[in-house]
Amino acid sequence: MKDKEYLIAFNKFLKSMKEKDDTLADDAYECITDLCDVMKIGRIEVSFFDTPSDEYIENNKTKVFYDIGNYDETIYIIRRNNTVDDRTVVYKAWIRESEAAWDDIEKERVNIILDTLFVFNSRSRFIQLADKLLYFDYDMDTYNHKYYMRYLNKLIEKSEISQYTAIYFNLKKFSVVNQQIGRKNGTKVMHSFINTIVSELESGEILARIGGDNFTLIVKKGNQNKILNILNGIGIFMGGSDSERVFVSANAGIYEIPDNSVSSASDVMDRISVALHIARQSDKLDFVYFDDKMLEAKKKANAISAYFPTALKNREFLVYYQPKVTLDGYKLAGAEALCRWKHDGQLIPPFEFISVLERSMDICKLDFYMLDRVCSHLRKWLDEGKKVVRISVNLSRRHLSDMDLTKHILEIIDSHNVPHELIELELTETITDYNFQKLTDTITSLQENGLYASVDDFGVGYSSINLIKEVPWNVLKIDKSLLPSGNGEDKYQNKVMLKYVVAMAQAIGLECVAEGVETPEQIEILRDNCCDFVQGYIFDKPMPVEEFKKRLDNYKYTI
Ligand code: C2E
Ligand code: CA
Ligand code: CA
Repeated sequence: MKDKEYLIAFNKFLKSMKEKDDTLADDAYECITDLCDVMKIGRIEVSFFDTPSDEYIENNKTKVFYDIGNYDETIYIIRRNNTVDDRTVVYKAWIRESEAAWDDIEKERVNIILDTLFVFNSRSRFIQLADKLLYFDYDMDTYNHKYYMRYLNKLIEKSEISQYTAIYFNLKKFSVVNQQIGRKNGTKVMHSFINTIVSELESGEILARIGGDNFTLIVKKGNQNKILNILNGIGIFMGGSDSERVFVSANAGIYEIPDNSVSSASDVMDRISVALHIARQSDKLDFVYFDDKMLEAKKKANAISAYFPTALKNREFLVYYQPKVTLDGYKLAGAEALCRWKHDGQLIPPFEFISVLERSMDICKLDFYMLDRVCSHLRKWLDEGKKVVRISVNLSRRHLSDMDLTKHILEIIDSHNVPHELIELELTETITDYNFQKLTDTITSLQENGLYASVDDFGVGYSSINLIKEVPWNVLKIDKSLLPSGNGEDKYQNKVMLKYVVAMAQAIGLECVAEGVETPEQIEILRDNCCDFVQGYIFDKPMPVEEFKKRLDNYKYTI
């Protein structure tokens, strides 16, 4: 519903009421017509009667109301009786079937119009209506965020909050559901899912919609498992054949509120929000229970985001280089540029800040900064007559939303006048990619411009060699989790997997780089399988630029 338009029409209505005493004058009718338009209701009429028998007469007289000129159409009527000062007031609303489906939402709309009219008669009803307008989500027939917060504050005031668990949930992949069955059916499915939860709520428990497919709940601790079972996933029947069931499940942040530990609704909200955020990021956990460490981590993350622009301006980010070495002769074949943050004399490793920067487009700024630094180093080495190697730079997947990504990359490289074939870009790929076309287009255009592209972290999560085939990559980087290590069953399985991964990569013409190689035994296995390059602590850890420079001219590696 268009809230703003409704409120404008509603205000106009109130004003006309004030000015016109208690008679429904022409302009009041006009306002009602406006309201009906906003609410997409066919027509609404209002009549006042002094006695019920008057109503009966009026009703007889006004049969003409039902005559809308087309007898085939169904007209729906709602009446409300209210006795104010010995008068019976009857409100009638009707709607043509052809204009809107007479479902619960439509009924709710008509009810709002009727409530608007009641405002005229009673102050308490006005307060009720104001509550409804302020605290209700009309599209989903649930309370809204405002109501949820107010309700939590009431529970806190009454010292009852510790009997409850707060839950913040987000429907998993609901945009995909919408794509598959259409938005309208998607809304229906969401409605059914929410209704299933609401039907399990006990007194004192509420569900609210925050917006989109985000909802909150406050449930008694004893009832929480029943609700979590639903959030874990249920099939929603769409009507028609059995196969038309849609599976809906949710990620949830859960806070089992301990005694007196919260002082306001926003404390609760902060906690379920961080827990949900972690659940949404995790591949493994759908539900995350809040604990205090999470808020600390969030504070730290906020501080990093806030300081990032200054750090970038002050050039606090350094490029470290980790060599890639040929298995044939142990010669330097390339290097990966890895970021280190030098802050207050300390060197901060990427796991402390990359994931924070990845929550926004900041990561793209950092990647471009790294590319710029790498190009400036390459230019300098070339000018000094050094024997340079191809350098790879990590590109966050966030860059895929940049329509001019290749152009931006080329601008940086060309501003340093560095040959394109000296730059490789590392990107990860996952099977859950539905931005697949964008990825293919990006890699194709990088290649058309003479740049190299590598699939990073192959073997982490869900990767598939089939998908790799579809995108024109140059290099496959095998993650260290695929390397055989230790003893036992896992080691044997990894050996087999590695063999097939390398063989398939080579069959489709990809260079193979094994990452995280630490032992001579791994080197042997990789050599047996004809892997091309190795990057790992066995040869070198990532190192500062001055040190890497010493590797450039015919450095001899041994193990
Ligand atoms: P990655 O791209 O997979 O980089 C390889 C990581 O493995 C590096 O960690 C490297 O130091 C580490 N590594 C290399 N050899 C070995 C080994 O033999 N044993 C072990 N245990 N580890 C090894 P690092 O430098 O801490 O980087 C971690 C991740 O941070 C990178 O993983 C990459 O995803 C991200 N990252 C680093 N710099 C950047 C950057 O400039 N931009 C973006 N977008 N991400 C970056
Ligand atoms: Ca990488
Ligand atoms: Ca990697």
